[in-house]
Amino acid sequence: MHKIGIDLGGTKIEGILVDEKYNIIERKRIETRPENGYDSIVKSITFLINELRAKTNEETSVGICTPGFTDTNSGLIKNSNTKCLLGMPLKNDIEKILKHEIVMENDANCFAMAESLLGAAKEYGVVFGVIMGTGVGGGIVINGTLHKGSTNIAGEWGHHTLRPDGNECYCGKQGCVETYISGPALEKRWLELTGKKEPLQSIVQDLSDEKAKQWKKEFLENFGIGLANVIDILDPDIIVLGGGVSNIPFLYDEAKKAVHDRVLGNFTETPILKNSLGDSAGVFGACLLNR
Ligand SMILES: [Zn+2]
Repeated sequence: MHKIGIDLGGTKIEGILVDEKYNIIERKRIETRPENGYDSIVKSITFLINELRAKTNEETSVGICTPGFTDTNSGLIKNSNTKCLLGMPLKNDIEKILKHEIVMENDANCFAMAESLLGAAKEYGVVFGVIMGTGVGGGIVINGTLHKGSTNIAGEWGHHTLRPDGNECYCGKQGCVETYISGPALEKRWLELTGKKEPLQSIVQDLSDEKAKQWKKEFLENFGIGLANVIDILDPDIIVLGGGVSNIPFLYDEAKKAVHDRVLGNFTETPILKNSLGDSAGVFGACLLNR
């Protein structure tokens, strides 16, 4: 059986058709405009699936990677930073149009699956996959199987409380990890400290002055506490980082040390590696949902 994997992002929908060995037969992407609303997203996804399916004579499975997760009881999308998906029965609506079942998972779970089975964490048993981009998410894979938890929220460390009276989060809580170490949160803090509006990649070019040092110190502390909490509970064999923020070089030395320094007992040195699949983790992860 061939597999179709769809990655629904904020500005694009990407899809691949792969064979049994995950070789790409066809790859397509279309632009999306979340402001055009939910129906246009559903239409674009089903259009893309049909286009890919037309490229093979074999039977195909379909997996979709989404921002936010699907509530196991109601089937509705929750906690998505693509706002028009919130509270919508996306899986059901796509299945109605396609007339067969599909599998759907949040982007962090797809990332963790892809890096575990095809990427940087291939040799490891218990993998914690982290996405630090527009939002912060995580997924747990144990010996090749996704650990979703009883209500599908396992791994959602982006909404752990770092500071009880801290920043407001769209999820309704305060002080979530995501409100400190997502790309937009880091850029916002930089603006507060320096008065300068700069993208993350230019911020990290020069961190020598006092305000920059303060920014980095806070970042290291928040990253350190956030991931040390995860290690204390899961004690994974490896942590793999993805998303735009994962391109910062100091995450793999100074920030890694900031994590290890805060783990119980001070002897655990969980490897923290950069992803190897880049932007393709979403589509491959979506394919891997049907194994
Ligand atoms: Zn939150």
